[in-house]
Amino acid sequence: MTFRLPVLSLGHGSPLNAIEDNFWSRSLAAMAPGLAKLPIRAVAVVSAHWWTRGTFVQASERPETIHDFGGFPQELFEVRYEVPGSPAIAGPLASDLGAKATEDWGLDHGAWSLLVHLFPKANIPVLQISLDATIPPKDHLALGKRLGAWREQGVLVLASGNATHNLRDAMLRFSEHPPKTPGWAASFDQDLAKALENRDEAWLLGALETPDGKMAHPSPDHWLPWLWAYGASDPADRLDFPVTGYDLGSLSMRSARWTAI
Ligand code: ZN
Repeated sequence: MTFRLPVLSLGHGSPLNAIEDNFWSRSLAAMAPGLAKLPIRAVAVVSAHWWTRGTFVQASERPETIHDFGGFPQELFEVRYEVPGSPAIAGPLASDLGAKATEDWGLDHGAWSLLVHLFPKANIPVLQISLDATIPPKDHLALGKRLGAWREQGVLVLASGNATHNLRDAMLRFSEHPPKTPGWAASFDQDLAKALENRDEAWLLGALETPDGKMAHPSPDHWLPWLWAYGASDPADRLDFPVTGYDLGSLSMRSARWTAI
């Protein structure tokens, strides 16, 4: 049987995690030695921060590092993740997804704030995939399934969002020491873990319609990468959660990893 690479769904949290030495950045760095051993031809990143009409695949030879945020220290704006792209994979992958290959965009912080820790040598080509704002959750899941077939072609699927992401709530918790985790965040996070373990597609597709889901994701951008990751996973994979916990009280940093066994 052909070797199938893992699927990772990781929470990126604050852009500062790219440059801070903290629990979250250390947990990412801890995955680096294992990833370095895998025969990865390219990393396909589905990031919460590339939001488009239609699906696009970034196909530059040298994707730019995009600093798509404001109000952070200068040091963060100086980060460059100088990695090759993979036009040779991006082209056929785009056709397979019914997407368009493009040289617009580059790598946004949803991608590079993780990649600087996961692949610190920046020696594995990276291509980003956008999230189509105009299609329903089931279509995102179906796209993830198509992307999953590329795991046997040396493509590592990396979804970058957050299990819960209500920035308004998180900002209000700056004054709490330590910040409290509200009930809706804890229960959404637990329900997500259960749904992934049980491969409960109905829950995943309707998750944002529930009262907890509406609080956990006032907008779907940080949620949809989860549907891609789940879609790319295989029922025969082993699922584990390498990281759990909350940043700023309500922002779940839960990560999931599906590994072929
Ligand atoms: Zn984000």
